[in-house]
Amino acid sequence: MWQSQAVISLFAFLFGLVIGSFLNVCIYRLPQHESVVTPRSRCPQCGTPIRARDNIPVVSYLMLGGRCRACRNRISLLYPAVELLTGVMFVACYHQFGVTLAGAKWALFCSLLLVLIFTDFHERILPNRVNYFGLAAGLAFSPFLPASDGFAQWILDGRMNLAAPGWAIALADAALGALVAGGLLWLFAEGYFRLRGREGMGLGDVKMMLMAGAFLGVRRAIAMLMLGSILGSVVGAIAVWGFGKGRDYELPFGSFLGIAGIFLIFLGSPLVHWYLTVSGLGH
Ligand SMILES: [Zn+2]
Repeated sequence: MWQSQAVISLFAFLFGLVIGSFLNVCIYRLPQHESVVTPRSRCPQCGTPIRARDNIPVVSYLMLGGRCRACRNRISLLYPAVELLTGVMFVACYHQFGVTLAGAKWALFCSLLLVLIFTDFHERILPNRVNYFGLAAGLAFSPFLPASDGFAQWILDGRMNLAAPGWAIALADAALGALVAGGLLWLFAEGYFRLRGREGMGLGDVKMMLMAGAFLGVRRAIAMLMLGSILGSVVGAIAVWGFGKGRDYELPFGSFLGIAGIFLIFLGSPLVHWYLTVSGLGH
């Protein structure tokens, strides 16, 4: 039994490396509004097309000593880091959810968040193509998986006395998650704008939460918002007071939301359970 688990884990890791290689392409090309399919990958510094054998995830980076074969300039360590992170996340998805539709859903969500974490970090951009694709995917997955949030069930059964089929409840959970998470952040951004007279965050963050809410449902999406805000506040305070960044320093809020989202997928259940118990919101 453990042998087959080890073999599947290895496959999940290798598959993650390959997907991670594609995520790198998305991270560097989507903010420039370039195609992620063509042309072939090129060295960002000398423009030489990268040969197939120099394009093997992680391995090529190590073989080339982290330098371009043509111009010998350094290749960013973030390329193999993204590949490795994706591999590790795919193994974690396999261990938590097995080879199931749920496993595929969360592996996709992790991948989308990873792209957003890095595009926001590099360019302060959360590409629409990622957010809209993610929103559609989150909604499309939901009817085929059992609802985990319970919010739609509570409204349909408890408040409206409607006995809806399981797939409809699951879809409603995803739609409510998107609307509540995106709506809350939009209200917050609007309030900040009215109060301070300048924008605290872009619509990209709102769209990102629409997407995340469709995957997570209402309660975990709110947890993601809170966790991301706490993380952003702590790092923001350190940046301003610790590293002397100006008060106008623009934090990559989407990056913090993304880290919070990945944390919630793998470690969220105990945290949400604890929060619901402490706050008295659980049932
Ligand atoms: Zn080069």
